[in-house]
Amino acid sequence: MQRSRGLLVIVTGPSAVGKGAICRALLERTPGVRFSVSMTTRPPRPGERHGVEYYFVTKEEFEREIQSGGLLEWAEVYGNYYGTPRRQVEEALERGEDIILDIDLVGANTVKAKYPDAVSVFVIPPSMAELHARIRKRGSESEEAVQRRLQEAPRWVEQGLTYQYVVVNDDLDKAVAQLQAILIAEKCRTSRQGGQLIRRLLERGSIEDDEPSDHR
Ligand code: 5GP
Repeated sequence: MQRSRGLLVIVTGPSAVGKGAICRALLERTPGVRFSVSMTTRPPRPGERHGVEYYFVTKEEFEREIQSGGLLEWAEVYGNYYGTPRRQVEEALERGEDIILDIDLVGANTVKAKYPDAVSVFVIPPSMAELHARIRKRGSESEEAVQRRLQEAPRWVEQGLTYQYVVVNDDLDKAVAQLQAILIAEKCRTSRQGGQLIRRLLERGSIEDDEPSDHR
């Protein structure tokens, strides 16, 4: 059967909502789903490896990548640059692999506009009080920056109304199960694999692949 293109899945949400934890758990529990490794100018945290969590680059290297068109989107987040390398995403989709982008809202809006076919998921906290607590817990920012983030929170949350799916990050297992269900449902869409199955059934009388798989 002609292989269908993979799913481009954007996972975003307000800052500190915990989308990273959901994506990591999803990847551990779902074979065949790839993670889009971003490029960043922020220094690695303990335990982070180049090419696994991020590609850690200098500001000059990042700017060269922007100039050469190597990034599908990029944004400045907390004073550092983050961007999605274009090639790994396009190659994964061509190969029929699903790829997940854990990116901020600015980047997510860019990808949504460039790839209308992308699946967009917005992660929200169970309450504004919980979001405030998570922003404070980050502890990596000045009080002024924290205050600004708290004030901006409702405006960021409101952007979720333009996304296809909403997942609440309250119980991690439940959030991951919801994300897995979204991926399964998206593949069944008539505009994706579902329609291919119907066409194949009509053309060949069966959805089964009738080409010998061992090339005898
Ligand atoms: P952290 O530094 O905590 O790993 O990530 C900070 C923020 O940057 C998170 O909200 C994360 O989703 C976002 N981020 C990570 N990679 C990218 C990227 O390639 N593009 C954009 N726009 N945001 C990213």
